Amino acid sequence: MTQNIDVYTDRNDLNWVDSHAHTWSEELTADYQEIMNRAWASGISEIIEVGVDVPTSKLAAKLASTDRRIHAVCGIHPHDADKYDQQHLDLQELATSGDFVAIGEIGLDFYRNFSPPDQQYKAFEKQLELARINNLPVVIHSRNADSETYSILKNWVSKVGKYLGTSRPIGMLHCFSGNSELSKKYQDLGFLISLAGPVTYKKNIELQKVAKLLPLSKMLIETDCPYLTPTPYRGKLNEPAYVKATGMFIANIKKEKISSVAKATTENAKFLFEINGG
Ligand SMILES: [Zn+2]
Repeated sequence: MTQNIDVYTDRNDLNWVDSHAHTWSEELTADYQEIMNRAWASGISEIIEVGVDVPTSKLAAKLASTDRRIHAVCGIHPHDADKYDQQHLDLQELATSGDFVAIGEIGLDFYRNFSPPDQQYKAFEKQLELARINNLPVVIHSRNADSETYSILKNWVSKVGKYLGTSRPIGMLHCFSGNSELSKKYQDLGFLISLAGPVTYKKNIELQKVAKLLPLSKMLIETDCPYLTPTPYRGKLNEPAYVKATGMFIANIKKEKISSVAKATTENAKFLFEINGG
């Protein structure tokens, strides 16, 4: 371990990737240009814009078409799984268009249960298949569904194998909220673990333990903006520039240099999403 001398310095000479953002959200529309300017000025080098249904996936692609540092992901969120059938053909078209770097966010959400579980399972499985057919990684959302999501992904990986190549990650667990044991199991399956603002919240001791044990080679960081704003910006809407606060917090608890966290998480994201030749 090296002395983390740069931990409390807000540096602008490092590159960061916001691995999961929804800046297409209407909450951020009015200030979109300023938000992007702040992101680039603070060292964010790439932003992954994630859709939650067909219209927002198209919005993500539209943003990506305006700036080569923005990359789009298409998919139908478990909240909207009950509308999956109507959107399947459109989603298929998006997935094959070449405009997207991954399929997501997809998964299971038994916290809100906005869609019935059987429809969530169906939409999840169909989109995993879509990812494999199009040779794309997956962006996974899992809430109150730790064992169910893991068991689906474990079966899926054992069926399809590492179709993106033996060393390239197969996907990411976005806004990871499980424990260290689950984190390790996903790493063993070939997934990266993405940490968001909640890791910076005082009470989240378990998630801080996950961050401490997570090797830099398996880590991503994200904002999941516009919500889940990291400390010290809580109370404000979240935006990509704030991914640095999460990165700096993680560097501190891991006793790593900020530059090491920035470098590793940037390289991991580029490798996962195959961006800039990653
Ligand atoms: Zn999200």
